[in-house]
Amino acid sequence: MLLWHLCHQILPVVTILKDKIPNLNPNCARCIDKEEDHMHVFRDCCNSRAIWNRVLNSNRHIDQPSMKVFMNSDWNTWMSLNTGGNKDRVMVFGVTVWHRWKNRNEAVLQQKMRHDSYVFNILTTDLVANSNSFQDKRKKQSIEANVSYGGFLRLVSTKSIPMAV
Ligand SMILES: [Zn+2]
Repeated sequence: MLLWHLCHQILPVVTILKDKIPNLNPNCARCIDKEEDHMHVFRDCCNSRAIWNRVLNSNRHIDQPSMKVFMNSDWNTWMSLNTGGNKDRVMVFGVTVWHRWKNRNEAVLQQKMRHDSYVFNILTTDLVANSNSFQDKRKKQSIEANVSYGGFLRLVSTKSIPMAV
């Protein structure tokens, strides 16, 4: 459902809400640098770019567009590239945009900002869980072998916040 809303650019981001809510701060709640539209939330915010860099680099075995194309294409091209064809790419894209939206909502509604490593670890855990649920054993091993730097994910609890090591 999120992907459908995303494809149609109808999620309640500032560019959608500003006509309905007077005096709404137009800036992104995470970077406070640019107006919040769909592209900014899901790809162009520095916060999102950092996560995409880590996700795409840790899933290089999956057929995907180059980083240059991924980071610079227009909205329609970006959506077409990531929602069609290769199932692994669609899964990685779907899980990552879901986490981008979740993190954006935490920033807007709860004034919470998660560290990139925390977000990446949770996201990677979800990718592996999705892989285990929807793919055959051979593909599952392919995803598991590339979940993080060094080929495994190790969580260390510091004040109950898991961090990558
Ligand atoms: Zn931003």
